[in-house]
Amino acid sequence: MAKTVIALRETRSLPIPERTAAGAATPLADALGRSLHDLRISVTDRCNFRCTYCMPKEVFDADYAFLPHDQILTFEEITRMARIFHGLGTRKIRLTGGEPLLRRGIERLIGMLREALPDVDLTLTTNGSALKAKAQALKDAGLNRVTVSLDSLDDATFRAMNDADFPVAKVLEAIDAAAEAGLAPVKVNMVVKRGLNDHQVVDMARRFRGTGHIPRFIEFMDVGSTNHWRMDDVIPSAEVVQRISKEFALEPADANYQGEVAERWRYRDGGGEIGVISSVTQAFCSTCTRARLSTDGQLFTCLFAQRGYDLKALVRSGMGDDEISGSVAAIWSLRNDRYSEIRTAETAKARKVEMSFIGG
Ligand code: SAM
Repeated sequence: MAKTVIALRETRSLPIPERTAAGAATPLADALGRSLHDLRISVTDRCNFRCTYCMPKEVFDADYAFLPHDQILTFEEITRMARIFHGLGTRKIRLTGGEPLLRRGIERLIGMLREALPDVDLTLTTNGSALKAKAQALKDAGLNRVTVSLDSLDDATFRAMNDADFPVAKVLEAIDAAAEAGLAPVKVNMVVKRGLNDHQVVDMARRFRGTGHIPRFIEFMDVGSTNHWRMDDVIPSAEVVQRISKEFALEPADANYQGEVAERWRYRDGGGEIGVISSVTQAFCSTCTRARLSTDGQLFTCLFAQRGYDLKALVRSGMGDDEISGSVAAIWSLRNDRYSEIRTAETAKARKVEMSFIGG
């Protein structure tokens, strides 16, 4: 008997579009003046890892009710949505999940997206477990780059954190394979949790110095409601930068584009760069241009949202592209989310959507 699903599936009612944004003269902006530059698409809510801070085993166990197949957007539906978002200003698409490389035929989806949107920056975030085998096919299909998650270089710590007994060495091989296939620069995401893996911060920086890969240190966030988040477990990015700069001199680097999630720092001696993602201690809501499409086609306007808008219902109702575009534009125009700026111990306890469902 399947358990009650923890991921929130109630949707928000759709606003009435005032106009069709396709062909609109002024660029689309939300209520706080932010554009719709990035789209993250979760292609599956399943993962083969059980990272303790993301999909803890005691919740995501054999009884957990993952989405049934007919609720998941098809590749054709995803491509259609991507085209509609592109018409509204989206220029960067990240495929995520769950673990996106578990979605069968993901290379075909990448090929479809590339054909539909030749100019879009197309990236993917993965735990790396299936990346070595797929890297070349992903590149050939049109993927630009990958981000690989790796929380520790210490094998025992990493195996305990992914809770799937997956070894560090295989992820390192996958990172090299991705770079060789041309999916570079490879970004390497490390979620830093006090007392668990923070002793690995400097090692991680050292390991990737001079390789061309970019380690990015992410503050442990209060996404979802199953990961027992506590402020005490967060290592502020300022401390990460301080620890690394004690060993290797760093200087701030300019953002690659407005709204970039990571704050960039480069080694003064030319050894490359690192990034820090400080959603908790230095909220970047004011420049957040990211929309998220969940595996079942809900549009979320914030990573910390409690509910999304059911775009799949529109897509499957036979509605035309212009009408769907108008609905997305109306949703975006109303967007006023700024959760990280107003986070308190109380909001952190709210029942939010799980990251594995909405897409990291
Ligand atoms: N399975 C893929 C992976 O492992 O990269 C993609 C999905 S995962 C949800 C995307 C990213 O979110 C990973 O880098 C993961 O470490 C990060 N993440 C998950 N839960 C988090 C949390 N509570 N705080 C900060 N980052 C988190």
